[in-house]
Amino acid sequence: MRIDGQRYGGKCSCGKTHEMTTKLSVIESGALLRFSDYLKELDLDGDHICAIYDTNTYNAVPADRRPKAVQEIILDPTGLHADEFSTAEVFRQMKDGITMIVGVGGGTVNDIARFCGYKKGLPLISVPTAASCDAFGSDVAAMTWEGLKKSISCLSPVLVVADLDIIKAAPSDLILSGIGDMLGKFIALAEWKIAHAVTGEAFCQEIHDIMDEAVTNIMNNCKQAQDGDDEAVAQVVYGLLMSGIAMQMFGNSRPASGAEHHISHFIEIQTEAFSETSDASHGEKVGVGTILASAEYHKLAKIEDIAPYVIPYKAWDRKWIRSYVGERLYEPTLKEHETDALAKVTPEALIQNWPKIREIVNQIPTAEQLYDTMAQLGAKRSLTDIGISEDKLAELLDNSPLARNRLTLMRMRRMMTKEVH
Ligand SMILES: [Zn+2]
Ligand SMILES: [Zn+2]
Repeated sequence: MRIDGQRYGGKCSCGKTHEMTTKLSVIESGALLRFSDYLKELDLDGDHICAIYDTNTYNAVPADRRPKAVQEIILDPTGLHADEFSTAEVFRQMKDGITMIVGVGGGTVNDIARFCGYKKGLPLISVPTAASCDAFGSDVAAMTWEGLKKSISCLSPVLVVADLDIIKAAPSDLILSGIGDMLGKFIALAEWKIAHAVTGEAFCQEIHDIMDEAVTNIMNNCKQAQDGDDEAVAQVVYGLLMSGIAMQMFGNSRPASGAEHHISHFIEIQTEAFSETSDASHGEKVGVGTILASAEYHKLAKIEDIAPYVIPYKAWDRKWIRSYVGERLYEPTLKEHETDALAKVTPEALIQNWPKIREIVNQIPTAEQLYDTMAQLGAKRSLTDIGISEDKLAELLDNSPLARNRLTLMRMRRMMTKEVH
């Protein structure tokens, strides 16, 4: 499968001109054997490449499939994060005269490569070695900086080369993580439509439809993907890739991230009052967040008339934020929520749009459907599975919007009385 970037960039029916850096993406068996052909096709300089791996991804790619490079930097995967230490290590090792960076690996290696390429002003090529998350096509690097999670806008790859032979040989839990990340798009897309209805937030039907089709295909064929069926694995990789491309086109992660991601981020940032931690991967946490958000949203959508339960907007209490998140996260959290996305919502708009919101929510697969799908795969599907106590559910739903200032239905619950939570 070849995805021509030109199809997605430029003037769109939504009124925006979508920026598109990724010129070509290839998802095929043996794609890495043709790596230099793609460089030629795009007229890219392949003579001064620095390829970044970790030991696992280096070993996962047979020598004859490794992109030809004047320098290979192989990072130690033990405790490897996209942070100030790993990126400093790349800068320390990188030779002069490099004109192109190739990131070969999963989310972490590609985020490190993305950040380093951006800082050095060099173009990036992304080579995903697993279908584990949607990081490889996007321009945003999920970095940990001084202990804080940050999404940093960097650069998108000019070329993505996904070799299905390598991806199919990756450890089996990685594709489950990718499927979890993708199922989250059901929630993310619903949030986007709801925000568009309630506040008129910018919306692009074309991006929506690309993502909606991709996630529906994955939901229907994920068992085959887990079993290694070529076509079904390619669909998962395509969905993850298009998710990154959708973020590129739209200019932020709106098409790909909603309350389900905020639940995952909230667990990761470790606020002082929420002391539980999880070893689960990003996609596993997102998968569980998706089931939790779906259950809560479908519960809310059963309410025919929301008017008796709607209360006016009230800003978060700073004192409470301070005591809840702790000193380390207090300033960054305040900064994140400087202009609360919820402040735009009026009780009238919420009440008036309630029938529309219910309609949108009713298109999201139910929690039972999602749970059964993940059970079929043997994927993590409950808070217990990701190491979080079940009695933390209410706190997680109420406070996870602290992780990211974006208008979600979960955030709108702050304008509903506790009776309906
Ligand atoms: Zn994600
Ligand atoms: Zn558009």
